[in-house]
Amino acid sequence: MTVSDIIGEPLDVHKLYSSKEERHDRILELMGYVGLNSEHAARYAHEFSGGQRQRIGIARALAVSPEFIVCDEPVSALDVSIQAQVINMFDELQDRLGLTYLFIAHDLLVVRHISDRIAVMYLGHIVELADAEEIYNHPLHPYSRSLLSAVPVPDPNTARANKRIVLAGDIPSPLNAPSGCPFRTRCPYAADCCAESMPELTEVEPGRLVACHRIHEIG
Ligand code: SF4
Repeated sequence: MTVSDIIGEPLDVHKLYSSKEERHDRILELMGYVGLNSEHAARYAHEFSGGQRQRIGIARALAVSPEFIVCDEPVSALDVSIQAQVINMFDELQDRLGLTYLFIAHDLLVVRHISDRIAVMYLGHIVELADAEEIYNHPLHPYSRSLLSAVPVPDPNTARANKRIVLAGDIPSPLNAPSGCPFRTRCPYAADCCAESMPELTEVEPGRLVACHRIHEIG
């Protein structure tokens, strides 16, 4: 398929045009949104770099005028410099089209840059949900604390003062998860109660939810 066919497919499936000209114009508009020009329309995906291919995929997602887009590791396969370009494009598209993203990523610096709210997950469970700056400045759940202690800090003095929290052991298999709290086999604060039941995600401050039996004890 050419780039034009790829981006035009959702328009065909959902019958979102009334003439060939309208279809063509809409494809060029979508390509413009993601920084591709009209000369790219007749070319094939294998002729493009990884970053440009990601732009083609995003243009295709935008074809149905969504309000909400799930972005599952959209930049993890790209070089760092290209990642920055694509992330900036996500920001611009959000402002321009009023989009909401559910952005799934492992790179904590990327997550911080793109997010308004962050859900930290461990073994498939949300363990903490809060505004991005709150999580980065003051993580509450023991797993969030350990995770964020691993974020590189560009200031050597601050980096020396920050203690990295290294967890013992490996992540258990989700097929054979521990009883009770899924984090208890690696948590430095685990107690007997942690093995008995799964902690519920509970609001501990306005807009801030944590799943930990001992959150009020560990401070
Ligand atoms: S419930 Fe227990 S094991 Fe789980 S995070 Fe809290 S203290 Fe750690």
